[in-house]
Amino acid sequence: MFEFGGVAQGGNFGKERDARVKQWIYHKLNYSQQQYGSFGCTGCGRCIKSCTKGIDVTDVVKKIQTV
Ligand code: SF4
Repeated sequence: MFEFGGVAQGGNFGKERDARVKQWIYHKLNYSQQQYGSFGCTGCGRCIKSCTKGIDVTDVVKKIQTV
């Protein structure tokens, strides 16, 4: 059975939690800007409500802004 981020032949591009969060943030806020000129996140908050680990996209962005 594949773990989160698992691909064929046993690879996993997102094995560590910080790598998965980084990919999520870059996908929503960086790559989408580069590719489409707009954010991939509307700020709807559904992921905040449903995340079983309590990850809040707004907290992540606030932490990035203070770095
Ligand atoms: S806030 Fe909404 S649009 Fe943004 S990442 Fe979460 S579910 Fe997706």
